[in-house]
Amino acid sequence: MTEANTFTISKLLRPHIAGLKPYSSARDEYSGKEGVFLDANENAFGSVTEQPFNRYPDPYQHELKAKIAELKHCRPEQIFLGNGSDEAIDLLYRAFCEPYLDNVIICPPTYGMYEVSAEINCVEVRQVPLTADFQLQPQAIMEAVDWHTKLIFVCSPNNPTANNMAVDDIRYLLEHFHGLVVVDEAYIDFTTQPSFVKSLEVYPNLVVLQTFSKAWGLAALRLGMAFASPELIGVLNKIKPPYNINGVTQQLALAGLNRTDVFREMLAETLRQREMLAETLKSLPQVSHVYPSDANFLLVKTPRPKELYDFLTQKKVIVRDRSKLALCEGCLRITVGTAEENRQLVAAIQQFV
Ligand SMILES: *Cc1c(COP(=O)(O)O)cnc(C)c1O
Repeated sequence: MTEANTFTISKLLRPHIAGLKPYSSARDEYSGKEGVFLDANENAFGSVTEQPFNRYPDPYQHELKAKIAELKHCRPEQIFLGNGSDEAIDLLYRAFCEPYLDNVIICPPTYGMYEVSAEINCVEVRQVPLTADFQLQPQAIMEAVDWHTKLIFVCSPNNPTANNMAVDDIRYLLEHFHGLVVVDEAYIDFTTQPSFVKSLEVYPNLVVLQTFSKAWGLAALRLGMAFASPELIGVLNKIKPPYNINGVTQQLALAGLNRTDVFREMLAETLRQREMLAETLKSLPQVSHVYPSDANFLLVKTPRPKELYDFLTQKKVIVRDRSKLALCEGCLRITVGTAEENRQLVAAIQQFV
């Protein structure tokens, strides 16, 4: 297909963003490490805390990106880091979607932020639901596309259905859609399906989102990754707040990336607990179905979801009621916990009559 081949970011961008001259921070204008730094109105005497935080952090997180590039087998220029994936999602809207004019496509049931961010940015959302077995409808998606469609959001593994989208369907969209296909891989570490990061050189209209909030266990740091062509990353860099990733986050994420043994151990335990919990839940009369999971949570069907949810909450076991979502009738979404947490969950469900 030829449209992706003729893809150019400048034609897709909102005109005022294409012409924008970004804020130039003190650290943009001089990025050396040695010297007497009197350029950023920082506190030369230190910080009120024991640890020093008086200097502004690296606005482009060079050290962190070098490490991530190594791990993900891509180039640092293909990485954007945001204050959570949510920042990357918001910046994509602000860069590409003209309020009251452009639209995006989402495939419910899926992650809620795509739609919330659209509403915040006054952008129309077109919904093309997943099939009954939670897969994309690529042809129907392309029928919903017009020349004002700028983004298609695909979540794989999908939240809350926990399954992978078929790779061929995602490729079909990448090859036929004139805009950006945003593949949200927040749960990629929990599946054996390969990441689309390896396809960045093939598809100039691909954006892959990943996060440190799930498998890395760093949700409180607020650190999300977007992978795309260097040109697209340049656009996000141009419109982001200058110091969007704080110094503590950069420092701690870097330390975490050097402890891949701990990462692998936590991941293996999550997968073990996921399989054990799924088997246990399937044996309970209160549960009618446990969907297969490629993520760190289970979608669980039950005859009386609201009542069970309230009962569990009363017992101080908090899960997510997803039963109001299309295709998720009767479903609760349950995060895989530690062996002890899962034991308490199961014990609580067993008391529900
Ligand atoms: C949890 C999650 C994220 C992560 O968001 P952060 O802002 O990085 O914490 C992104 N996408 C999906 C689908 C998620 O479920």
